Amino acid sequence: MRRVKQRKRFMYGLIGIRLLIVDTPAKPISTTERDRIVASVLDASRLLRKLGNDWAWSRTPPVTHEICRFAISWEQVSVTPLAPTPPKTGLLAVDIPAHELTWVGNLLTTLGVTTPLALDIEQHHEALADQTDGMLETAFFGRQPSDLVTLVVTTLPMGWFAYASRPEPVALIQWEDAQQEFKSVDRVIAHEICHVFGALDEYENASMQYTCVPTERGGALEFPNSNCIAGGTTHQECLMLANHPVLCTSTPLHLGWTDAQGDQVMDLATPPMITGMEAPFSFDPTLVQITGPGLQFATRVRFNDTEYATDASIDSAPSISAHVPPNLHGPITVDVQTVTGWVRGDPDVALVIVP
Ligand SMILES: [Zn+2]
Repeated sequence: MRRVKQRKRFMYGLIGIRLLIVDTPAKPISTTERDRIVASVLDASRLLRKLGNDWAWSRTPPVTHEICRFAISWEQVSVTPLAPTPPKTGLLAVDIPAHELTWVGNLLTTLGVTTPLALDIEQHHEALADQTDGMLETAFFGRQPSDLVTLVVTTLPMGWFAYASRPEPVALIQWEDAQQEFKSVDRVIAHEICHVFGALDEYENASMQYTCVPTERGGALEFPNSNCIAGGTTHQECLMLANHPVLCTSTPLHLGWTDAQGDQVMDLATPPMITGMEAPFSFDPTLVQITGPGLQFATRVRFNDTEYATDASIDSAPSISAHVPPNLHGPITVDVQTVTGWVRGDPDVALVIVP
C-alpha cells in the first residue's frame, strides 16, 4: 500500500517544448547559429519520438499507438549578466548556482517574471516552469500539449554543460560546452528532456563526482535504475548511459512506458475510470473504497471539488481508500486525479452518500 501523492511526469502525448535561446548583447548568437540550435532541438525531439515508436513496436503484442511527439516554440532572448563569471571550483553544487545566478535572474526579468535574484537556483527553475505552465496553447499553433518543458540553450556561462532540474520541467544546455563535450548535441538535449520525465542517469563520472545508484527509483512507475553502470543488473547501451541513440530496458519504464495488461495500449495512456465506490466493512462510515482501471496511478482524491483527501492510499487492487472530510454529508462527488495529469486524465467523478 502506498500513499497517494504528487503527480509525476511521464513522456506521453503531444509535449510542448518552449525553447529559450539565450545570449548576451556582448556576444550575440547569429541567425545561422540560432538555426543550428533550433535544428538540434528538432533532431532531439525526432529521436525521442522514434524511440517511443521503437519501444511500442518492440512489445509483444505491439503497442499500436504513437507514444509521444513534440511541438517546439522558440524565442531568442538577450540578457546582460549581473556579475562577472566566477572561476570554476570543480564542485557542481557550487559551480551550477554560482555561474547561472550571474544571468538567470535577468533572464526572468526579461521574460516578465518578477522573481528577484535569489541564491537558490531551484527557485529560478520553478519560476521558468511556472511561466511555461501559463503559456498560451497558441504558441504551439493552436495544438494543446499535454505537457510542457522549458529548454534553455545558452552561450552564457553554466556550471556544467547540460542538466535538468529534478522537481521542475526545466533543462539547460550550455551550447558551446555541450558541443565541445559531445559530437551529437541533439542526443544531449534528448537525454536532458528524458530527465524531465523521470529518466535516471546510468553512468559514473569522476570529474563530476557522480556515480549512478542502481537502487534509485525513477519516474511515475518508480522503477529501479537497473542499467546503472555501477552495480546494475543489465548492461545495455542507452541514451541515459552514454547518449547512445537507443534505450535500455529500464529507461522506458522510467519514462512511464509499460503495457503490463498486454492490451496494446500503454498503461498510463488508459484514461482513469471510477467503476466502484463503496463503504468497506468498517465501523467508520466516512471511509470509502474507490476502485477502477488506472487508479494505481492516482495522485489526488478530491471531494465536492474542493476538499482534498489527506489520507488517501492505494492498495494493489488497484483501489484507493480515503476518508471523507468530517464536514461533508449527504451526496458527495468524488474525483480522482492520476499521473496522466490535468489535461489527459480529467478526474473521473462519482457520487457517494455519507450519513
Ligand atoms: Zn543526465
